Amino acid sequence: MAEHESLEFGKADFVLLDNVSLEEFMANLKLRFEKGRIYTYIGEVVVSVNPYRAMNIYGRDTIEQYKGRELYERPPHLFAIADAAYKAMKRRNKDTCIVISGESGAGKTEASKYIMQYIAAITNPGQRAEVERVKNMLLKSNCVLEAFGNAKTNRNDNSSRFGKYMDINFDFKGDPIGGHINNYLLEKSRVIFQQEGERSFHSFYQVCSSINDTADFKAVADAMKVIGFTAEEIQTVYKILASILHLGNLRFGVDGDTTLIENPKVVELIGGLLATKEESVEKALLYRTVATGRDVIDKQHTAQEAGYGRDALAKAMYERMFCWIVGRINDVIEVKNYDAKVHGKNTVIGVLDIYGFEIFQNNSFEQFCINYCNEKLQQLFIQLVLTQEQEEYQREGIPWKHIDYFNNQVIVDLVELQHKGIFSVLDEACMNVGKVTDEVFLQGLNSKLAKHAHYTSRKVHWEPLTIWVNTLLPLPLPRHAPPVHVLSVYLPPSPLSPPPRRSSNPVLKVMWPEGKLSITEVTKRPLTAATLFKNSMIALVENLACKEPYYVRCIKPNEVKSPLLFEQERCRHQVEYLGLLENVRVRRAGFANRQEYPRFLQRYKMISEFTWPNHDLRSDREAVKMLLQSCGLEHDVAYGKTKVFIRTPRTLFSLEEQRAEMV
Ligand code: ADP
Ligand code: MG
Repeated sequence: MAEHESLEFGKADFVLLDNVSLEEFMANLKLRFEKGRIYTYIGEVVVSVNPYRAMNIYGRDTIEQYKGRELYERPPHLFAIADAAYKAMKRRNKDTCIVISGESGAGKTEASKYIMQYIAAITNPGQRAEVERVKNMLLKSNCVLEAFGNAKTNRNDNSSRFGKYMDINFDFKGDPIGGHINNYLLEKSRVIFQQEGERSFHSFYQVCSSINDTADFKAVADAMKVIGFTAEEIQTVYKILASILHLGNLRFGVDGDTTLIENPKVVELIGGLLATKEESVEKALLYRTVATGRDVIDKQHTAQEAGYGRDALAKAMYERMFCWIVGRINDVIEVKNYDAKVHGKNTVIGVLDIYGFEIFQNNSFEQFCINYCNEKLQQLFIQLVLTQEQEEYQREGIPWKHIDYFNNQVIVDLVELQHKGIFSVLDEACMNVGKVTDEVFLQGLNSKLAKHAHYTSRKVHWEPLTIWVNTLLPLPLPRHAPPVHVLSVYLPPSPLSPPPRRSSNPVLKVMWPEGKLSITEVTKRPLTAATLFKNSMIALVENLACKEPYYVRCIKPNEVKSPLLFEQERCRHQVEYLGLLENVRVRRAGFANRQEYPRFLQRYKMISEFTWPNHDLRSDREAVKMLLQSCGLEHDVAYGKTKVFIRTPRTLFSLEEQRAEMV
């Protein structure tokens, strides 16, 4: 028998637990992890536990086992979900998406890569050259994105410091013909500051050719070449990295009323690298442009302001470069010359690899955004899975017992509501550049939100699905760290044309296209980082909402990257905030599987004499009833108008086994 439900390996689907309790859930999760069964279903959701060791389950032979199969035919696997998404796309012309979530180090990025590899492996049987080229580009782009967007952190040696959503487009044959990458909230503060034991982005070490990174340097440069970056573009990227490193060495001092640069040699180096005059670099670092009446004038920074400005410039340069790299990759992989009239509908599978909830000792704006993002995704999950599920039962005339769940819309509103939400309060605070402090911001929050049921000021407070408002406020940073003010993340670099904007290097000019600033541009407040992030999240959710979703929920078993250790408390915490138990309950209250009558018959008609080889009953619905009665499974199903609904996976497994005996 397949190992769907064997005692030795635990239950392959949490829906099969005898009792849905946290204890049983955890016991099953632990047992499966210890037996090397890292994947388990909740219906069509894959729960994955990071094995922290090489698993022999991603090879060509495994791919063949999953290719074109139904979800329940094989043990739980990422490949099964990837195949389900692919089949939905190909057979039913649906746009689908695979949402991968979990905390840092839980295995999201690895999962997204296996999914991409699977899709690459099962497509293009005709070996068309163009499709091969696209697949190669899609796979190569990972290497480049990881070099510039990943870093070693205390939780993960190769931690993605940005959120990634990648669309893969398919033609009518189901072969990939292109793609598009959206990146979210690069953690650019890492350029100027890292926690103890952590590093900046890999790219910096690769360019410095430290011992471990030289080989990677070569691989990245090669990948960039393959994707189509020109030699000049690659050179410019290195020059930017070097400039940022030099910026970090700049020191400011004062002489009487004048702020000055203590090591002007560094300015010369930066000027050379950025193809900008030294004086421009110096001026950009020491002055800002302010509007007075109808004029703009240059106002000198204090030494401290100059320090902030330098850091802001370093971060902005890195961020622009990263976005430009993503844009260049998109130029190359984007679908071109596809005529839907000739070739049929172009369908999409989206893969979202996005940071899960994060709680550190010190939490800043970035953690806030990350947690907000997860609330949005949870809200989407609730809408798609719970609401749509209930609607389908209604449509099909199946009685449905309403089940209670916590609807986190109230939390999402707390953050994003116009005029009332946390982001609005923050934007308001940011209007007063120079005067605003964390205290002012906190007062704003307290006065607007004190009565909100989910707002707790200043008190350490964490509950699943409750945003931790107090953590916006910075706790003491380690000594030697630059004084990162919580609000400094909103301050753009000095609006005075920064050096890369004045460069004669054509690649830099593309990254910094703005010309000389007019007075309106100097006085206009740019959109805050909070607003930009909020808008990008709303767009992301809208995009996902119109696709058929598949979920991978990743769990990190321990903090020490051990393949043997299952830390009960850590895992329990993740199971709770991912809402997995709730997920099982909803799934059990509903039906694990539903199939249209003709399709069901096509698959299982051989297991009953009433339906094999053809039935002579009034309708397919009647035939399915006879079939299920004849094998004693009718207690576990309901008959809708067009579909049969199967309550537990056990019934499906049983059907599958009987089918396997016949064919
Ligand atoms: P995340 O993207 O969630 O932060 P990663 O996908 O980068 O986490 O995984 C962190 C590390 O865990 C990887 O570098 C790898 O060593 C290990 N890992 C994750 N998933 C697997 C897997 N399926 N098989 C083997 N090792 C894995
Ligand atoms: Mg990652």
